[in-house]
Amino acid sequence: MMNIRTLITTLVLSLCSPLLLAQTTLIKNVQGYTIDVNKLRQFSAIQFTDDKIDRIFTSNESINEQVHWKIIDGKGATLLPGLIDAHGHVLSYGESLLQVDLVDSQTEHNAVIRAVNFAKKNPKSIWVKGRGWNQVQWPSKNFPTAKSLDQYFPDKPVFLERVDGHAVWVNSKAMAIAQINKNTKSPIGGEIIRDNKGQPTGVFIDNAMELIVKKIPALTINQQKNILVKSMNSLASLGLTSVHDAGIDSDNLQAFQELVNEDKMPIRINAMLYLPSKNWQKILSEGILKSPDDMLNFNSVKIQADGALGSRGAALIGDYSDHAGHKGLLLHDKKELTQYIDTAMQAGFQVNTHAIGDNANKMVLDIYQDSIKTYKTKALRNRVEHAQVLRLEDIPRFSKLGVIASMQATHATSDKNMAVDRIGSERILGAYAWRKLLNANAIIAAGSDFPVESPNPFFGLHASITRQDKENQPKNGWIPEEKMTPIEAFRSFTSHAAYAGHQESIVGSLAQGKKADFILINNNIFTSEEANIWQTKVLKTWVNGKLVFDR
Ligand SMILES: [Zn+2]
Repeated sequence: MMNIRTLITTLVLSLCSPLLLAQTTLIKNVQGYTIDVNKLRQFSAIQFTDDKIDRIFTSNESINEQVHWKIIDGKGATLLPGLIDAHGHVLSYGESLLQVDLVDSQTEHNAVIRAVNFAKKNPKSIWVKGRGWNQVQWPSKNFPTAKSLDQYFPDKPVFLERVDGHAVWVNSKAMAIAQINKNTKSPIGGEIIRDNKGQPTGVFIDNAMELIVKKIPALTINQQKNILVKSMNSLASLGLTSVHDAGIDSDNLQAFQELVNEDKMPIRINAMLYLPSKNWQKILSEGILKSPDDMLNFNSVKIQADGALGSRGAALIGDYSDHAGHKGLLLHDKKELTQYIDTAMQAGFQVNTHAIGDNANKMVLDIYQDSIKTYKTKALRNRVEHAQVLRLEDIPRFSKLGVIASMQATHATSDKNMAVDRIGSERILGAYAWRKLLNANAIIAAGSDFPVESPNPFFGLHASITRQDKENQPKNGWIPEEKMTPIEAFRSFTSHAAYAGHQESIVGSLAQGKKADFILINNNIFTSEEANIWQTKVLKTWVNGKLVFDR
């Protein structure tokens, strides 16, 4: 890993510089809320010096204002701890801001036309890249094919990721560059979609995506840094002050480290190293990393056990309800997965494993159970990312093993119709089962899995509380028994997400000595109509005592 020592020295020097005078700021006249030991606590003013909170004041406490303080009038707006997304993809989100946006495309043709328009505006791009299509939303419900792209892109390779990032749709030029033909075998944990003559049609699922990806020129570290800063600024504008980046490689980690050195991190990043990726064993052997200002933490890994439900890649114990004989894909066999998990735990890294289907979830919990016992690693707070479809008997295992369920509320409201098709009415009882997990004392850390879903945390809070989409459908919420209370939802995006990142002592709530990470918003989410929570707008965002976004 590059230059940890340089990183630390630079930061220590800048933090200790005697030229820096402490600046105290008071923000008064706010409707403030924070979590205090699982209870909601209200306040009306907050005082902080540099990066740390001095005190919060309730409305009947008097404030002894000093002349040298900077005073900000909150004008009655709502102030919350900075929200934390426990599972997002910062680089992909940044790239998605610079690519063809296929989200909510109505038909395959409509998606093609969006790519055509994008290519016209960006004639220099060698590959046309995009993301966000979802064949389930199209009238045909069928996977798209290379043919529809070839008509408009005979010579330029096109690479369009499905909304969940678990499948890619390419044209014939891209397949030619990757030397894909009838004889190309699907790799383990991947699938090449073929026509009835065995010819690849242009859609590659899970591990098969790599056949194309490896032909696309990689981003340089500098390109990555530019994209990351764009991405993080956008996230700050939505009220996120911290993100757990769910699976990065060593180049991406280096880009973050350089940004920390250059003091260019607008929000905090908790990085998970993707296993396996380049030099992963070496990086783990060098140990965990934490910048002195806590803007970058690296103490976890991300492993993927299966695919996703939409592309039928999630590994189920029984058959898919809408595809007899098909059980989805495990990306590694049990022995290989155990080896990744054990290596990471032994190196002192928290293990965060993606598991969507009930088979993948069971397998991950089984391995965790053995490895936690063998290596005494319960305190690592290992996590299951998504924990989407669970056997009812696996639900109590989360709290027993101290395993955190890292879940995305908007997946439930986006997937609701598709999920019932895929797994049927019985297995759905253990799917997106927030209430059952909370009742079994599990900790749920909230996220969005951006760019799979929008990173807007108010969409997530709204979905958690209502189990409804933004049209407020279905009427009483989808499987309303699984709703969270407003406080539980708030906690999942603040203190519990902080706990999931081993950072609850510095972020996730507002109290003396904690980091000055908070947001001012235009809507009191605790007193206004639940149906409107998703429309909340962020007015200002502070991270580490610095104003990083101002509307
Ligand atoms: Zn993800």
